[in-house]
Amino acid sequence: MSVPVLYLVVPCYNEQEVLRDTAEKLEQKLTRLIDVGGVDAKSRIAFVNDGSRDNTWELIRQCTERSPLFSGINLAHNEGHQNALLAGLMTVLPHADVTISMDADLQDDIHAIDLMLEKHAAGANIVYGVRENRASDTFLKRFTAESFYRAMRALGADIVFNHADFRLMDRRALTALAEYPEVNLFLRGIVPMIGLSHEIVYYTRKQRLAGDSKYPWRRMASFAWEGVTSLSARPIRMISQMGMFISFISGLMLIWSIARHFVGETIVGWTSLVVSLWFLGGLILLSIGVIGEYVAKIYLEVKRRPRYLVQEFIDGNARGKK
Ligand code: UDP
Ligand code: MG
Repeated sequence: MSVPVLYLVVPCYNEQEVLRDTAEKLEQKLTRLIDVGGVDAKSRIAFVNDGSRDNTWELIRQCTERSPLFSGINLAHNEGHQNALLAGLMTVLPHADVTISMDADLQDDIHAIDLMLEKHAAGANIVYGVRENRASDTFLKRFTAESFYRAMRALGADIVFNHADFRLMDRRALTALAEYPEVNLFLRGIVPMIGLSHEIVYYTRKQRLAGDSKYPWRRMASFAWEGVTSLSARPIRMISQMGMFISFISGLMLIWSIARHFVGETIVGWTSLVVSLWFLGGLILLSIGVIGEYVAKIYLEVKRRPRYLVQEFIDGNARGKK
């Protein structure tokens, strides 16, 4: 059996502090894999520059000039982690038999790559890297992440617990992924929908090598909300259920107040009036907001705008360099 051509796909956004180090470690890893005959000599490390404002692309170019093991994909502007990753995967798809996606900060353990390849050789089309523990995270991050996974599950999205985007996908899985045309992309939710044969590899996630996380709290919250609303329509249904429940309660209150009226007690109840007014007002606004979120998503989807634009692809395996 022939060995597969592996592409390591690494999205990079303002990663100049870590890129050299990452490149060096990945190069060592890939060289060893090629030497022991685990992967084909045409295997590459593909860095995707997601519209960085620092020297990231310059450093990637230097890598490609220094060694044929590197490919560089330069996106025309910043598209966000998920779309940058997709751009990388789709660009290398014609040249790769398998891809492994990972972050530029090497928080994911590169030793897990061997295990992933083993599982792939044994027949898995997708191998998820799952974090064994979250010891490197603060309590708050752990807690919010945990709640996020639980909420997603409760909302009917089949996502893999503690799996970020460290993942092996072979050509068959990628071809299937290409059939999901959504603009609001949440790979962690979509990949499990593909099905096919999948496996899990456990690893310990490390601290970021250098530089800052590109996911501050605000971005993470919006990422989580994106995830929920792009995978599940259940929040909308929950609004109707809430509406029905509240109408039912108001019906009971109506009967009760009319009854009291006939008994001769008129309710002075200014307080209850104001409270319920505000409560319902808030609820209505919230509901409109959630519905608006979906309308906005529909708006973005129907426009069918391209999800990314590859400005330049440098790769020794690509026929006719762009
Ligand atoms: N990233 C990207 N585009 C962005 C933000 C982040 O390509 O707009 C990349 C980033 O360079 C890194 C990966 O996505 O390789 C994950 O980001 P980060 O490590 O900052 O997230 P964290 O590990 O803190 O969740
Ligand atoms: Mg990171």
